[in-house]
Amino acid sequence: MCDSEMVAFLEIKLPPSDSHSFQPGSRLQIFACREHDDIAGDVYSGYTAFDNASRIVALPDEYWNITDGHYVLRLLSPTTKTVESKQESRLAHQYLAATIASEDSQDGFKLFGQPYWVQHAEPHQCSCGAPMELLLQIPDGHGFRMADGAEEQPNSFSRMEYCIFLGNQLYLLGCTSQCNPYALWPVLQN
Ligand SMILES: [Zn+2]
Ligand SMILES: [Zn+2]
Repeated sequence: MCDSEMVAFLEIKLPPSDSHSFQPGSRLQIFACREHDDIAGDVYSGYTAFDNASRIVALPDEYWNITDGHYVLRLLSPTTKTVESKQESRLAHQYLAATIASEDSQDGFKLFGQPYWVQHAEPHQCSCGAPMELLLQIPDGHGFRMADGAEEQPNSFSRMEYCIFLGNQLYLLGCTSQCNPYALWPVLQN
């Protein structure tokens, strides 16, 4: 929305597992603006539409368009073709290693399973009727290490790290039918 090139924060190719309903091999991607890194549904776009949808279980049609224009969350099907990407130059490259953890594990990134809610539970159902499940949980205050010489993020809690959604705990819920690559909903708590 502001013409700033989004930062490619994260890409995860979903592993096959009995613990989720998504298509294995789908790619979860998170992009966000370096300069406008506030929570979803905020001053950039008007809070009401996001807040209204957050309060109901069944999300409205095309709920993925309720965004402030400074982030992109998508889950590409295994067969989606994308153009070859440039390297993200502003973040230090890091790899995630997956381990099987117990359901009540609270630390680190979490793929699938039950959300560990720090406030009240906020379950949702997709407008297509399919249930939404937890794709990814990112802990409160998680920073993404910057590359050497990268510009600072104006509102981050750190001069060495970027954050997404102001570092709030993110519960990224996804439509289990994957009816649209953007059929994801960010729940933020702290
Ligand atoms: Zn922006
Ligand atoms: Zn759906």
